[in-house]
Amino acid sequence: MPYLFRVHDTDGNYHGTCSRRCYEALGGTSHCVCGGINHGVGLRRAAANSLDLQSVRVCGRMLPADSPHLIVAKNPALESLAEQTTWPWAEPAHVQIATELARNHRQPDSDPNASWK
Ligand SMILES: [Zn+2]
Repeated sequence: MPYLFRVHDTDGNYHGTCSRRCYEALGGTSHCVCGGINHGVGLRRAAANSLDLQSVRVCGRMLPADSPHLIVAKNPALESLAEQTTWPWAEPAHVQIATELARNHRQPDSDPNASWK
């Protein structure tokens, strides 16, 4: 699973990585370096957000992503990730499951031998 970006500072301190744990999160509160913009939104949307990153959370404060003492290392593949629409992980798992349930719900008795009954 790809990360989106990592944040360090010029003193060599590591502040965090926005990755799957963030963009596939199921509710809860985000403490991510992205400041929450990618929280639970799925990979494709999160990659697009990260391309256009304006600020990052460092030590509990939102700072401009281009602050001179910060090093924001974006995944070189962000652009292609943002364009991807067919990867199985383009949507968070809970969105995929909800879509699947909705599809089954529309035809409740069309297949009485379905294994989940
Ligand atoms: Zn994040």
